[in-house]
Amino acid sequence: MSANCPECDAEITLTKPMRGEIIVCPDCGVELEVTNENPLALELAPQEEEDWGE
Ligand SMILES: [Zn+2]
Repeated sequence: MSANCPECDAEITLTKPMRGEIIVCPDCGVELEVTNENPLALELAPQEEEDWGE
């Protein structure tokens, strides 16, 4: 099952997508959320505030 990255349009193939799963685009590194399993649909994951981390 595959879909295109909404950010860079790379084709991303997942063997067992799960709705709500967060994946990372292997091409541009953006985080994507699986919003539908069949057909596979991906959306940009919500960005966290920058003062997280460190
Ligand atoms: Zn991408």
